[in-house]
Amino acid sequence: MNAGKQFNIAGCGNDVYTFEWGNYEDWRSVGPYIGTFGLDFRALAVDYRRDRYASAEAAQKDECRVDEDDFIAWMIERAILTPVQKTNSTIDFYYDSDNRYIPQHWPECPECRKGRGEQEYGDERRHLNRVVSLLRCTNCGNEWGHHEVANNPNLPMLGDDIAFPQ
Ligand SMILES: [Zn+2]
Repeated sequence: MNAGKQFNIAGCGNDVYTFEWGNYEDWRSVGPYIGTFGLDFRALAVDYRRDRYASAEAAQKDECRVDEDDFIAWMIERAILTPVQKTNSTIDFYYDSDNRYIPQHWPECPECRKGRGEQEYGDERRHLNRVVSLLRCTNCGNEWGHHEVANNPNLPMLGDDIAFPQ
């Protein structure tokens, strides 16, 4: 069993402790617990064993099991350790699309005047090296500013008899 001191809570005289033991699939990690600064777990383990043996003797038991879980329970019973309530929250910055980054330097949407125009590409005419460039509003989805640009910017756009409808 490794008794790990995670960190000292500055100024209040307490430490935060975690414990781990076992190997592979038996590996256990418990905590954190708050206890007074610098607890001596070797000395406490001796007290714990003596205490449990004495209780077993008093009850005239034929066996007395001591283990890591029970040691921790014993320390909690005696208020040597106090369990800390853990709070789990999940925050997913990447997928939280309600709060995505929308650059304010993008053009303002002419429809809703709230969203910004995000560059998108539409219909492609690959044989003419042309693709439709447009702006799509991040708020209402309105599209505007359609015009054709070179699909491959390293090659010329090929001519077209049919003018692209604006
Ligand atoms: Zn809009």
